[in-house]
Amino acid sequence: MQLSTEVTQLCDEIRRFIQKEVEPRSRWIEENDAIPDDLVQKARELGLFGLTIPEQYGGIGLDLAGKCAVEEEMGKTNYGFATLIGNHTGISSTGIVALGNEQQKQQYLPRMASGEWLGCFALTEAQAGSDPAALRTSAVRKGDRWILNGEKIFITNAPVAHVFTVMALTDKSKGIKGISAFIVERSCKGLAVGRNELKMGMHGCTTAPVAFNDCEVPAGNLLGAEGMGYVQALKTLTQGRVTLAARCVGMMDKLIGKCVEYMKVRAQGGHKLAEYQGLQWMLADMAVQRDAARGLTERAIATLMRGERGTLEAAAAKLYATEALGKVTDAAVQIHGGMGYMREAGIETTFRDARITRIYEGTSEIQRNIIAAQLLKEQ
Ligand SMILES: Cc1cc2nc3c(=O)[nH]c(=O)nc-3n(C[C@H](O)[C@H](O)[C@H](O)COP(=O)(O)OP(=O)(O)OC[C@H]3O[C@@H](n4cnc5c(N)ncnc54)[C@H](O)[C@@H]3O)c2cc1C
Repeated sequence: MQLSTEVTQLCDEIRRFIQKEVEPRSRWIEENDAIPDDLVQKARELGLFGLTIPEQYGGIGLDLAGKCAVEEEMGKTNYGFATLIGNHTGISSTGIVALGNEQQKQQYLPRMASGEWLGCFALTEAQAGSDPAALRTSAVRKGDRWILNGEKIFITNAPVAHVFTVMALTDKSKGIKGISAFIVERSCKGLAVGRNELKMGMHGCTTAPVAFNDCEVPAGNLLGAEGMGYVQALKTLTQGRVTLAARCVGMMDKLIGKCVEYMKVRAQGGHKLAEYQGLQWMLADMAVQRDAARGLTERAIATLMRGERGTLEAAAAKLYATEALGKVTDAAVQIHGGMGYMREAGIETTFRDARITRIYEGTSEIQRNIIAAQLLKEQ
């Protein structure tokens, strides 16, 4: 995909930042399940928190192609760090950019662009995961406030977020057409963030439940039109799926590079691993899957940037890239033999990190449902 000089330069700058600042701390982040404050500060100084926020609100204003190029780079470093930034600059702020009124944009975007305020996106509930339409969190208008009640689970960045984009039912009788989106500040009375979950991977990036107990939100914090929350959430998730696919491409790229390096150095039975055809074929399959994932991601980017819905294309990119990443990480462990199982090599970390990509932002099964539904509608 053709990228502007500015985006190419930004990616170069991010690559240097990753090499100098993130990679040396990656093991620390992994072991401590935390991201050092000074690293977050350096990311702020580089402008990483404002990637997708328009320049007039203090951000860099990347379009989807630019954001995906950055995500591919971020896929080559610590997954928790990449998710902290990717979530904030993706599903947690793009809704405000796309739907916020001028006052909301002025109020939230500059502080989100600078990274002073982090965002999170709260849709999932205990009974509403793959089926977000089953959500129960309610929002009732009382004078100049909305009163929210309910509980969200598995919310990325919630423990560190200041700005919560929350989906809640404003009219139970209307089903999904009764779901609205709200901007809720952490300081709102009645909002409580639960404990940080212990996870298989994605270490360093926090995930927690969020409870709303008669939580008072100013009337002006309704995001977009009342009853349009579900539609808006789906649009946000469609873009999020494409950017996640781009990150998976970067992760595969890095693993392939590691395998090539290892195969050229490691010798067994009097031969370098690179000389064994069985391993060569594994490597070839890994590269083809990475390239196919990139192709589907680029198709989805192009479709969305033409202003089309792109639901099928985004689902296909997400489905293929995340499933391919699963196969590629498995092959990378195998090529590294026993060393692939050791923390020292860094492959097992990616193996665990990769697993979440097939679950969040819609599971693989849900992506297949979306693709099949679209195909059946067209025929
Ligand atoms: C680490 C992490 C971070 C997350 N971050 C966020 C976040 O920031 N914000 C947020 O709102 N949510 C977040 N989520 C929630 C995530 O999007 C959901 O976990 C995901 O959508 C799946 O929902 P579920 O866990 O309830 O699984 P379920 O919906 O219970 O699914 C269980 C299984 O059933 C399958 N299944 C369900 N329905 C169907 C169907 N119709 N057809 C075929 N198969 C089906 C699923 O594919 C899956 O295999 C996060 C989750 C995790 C684990």
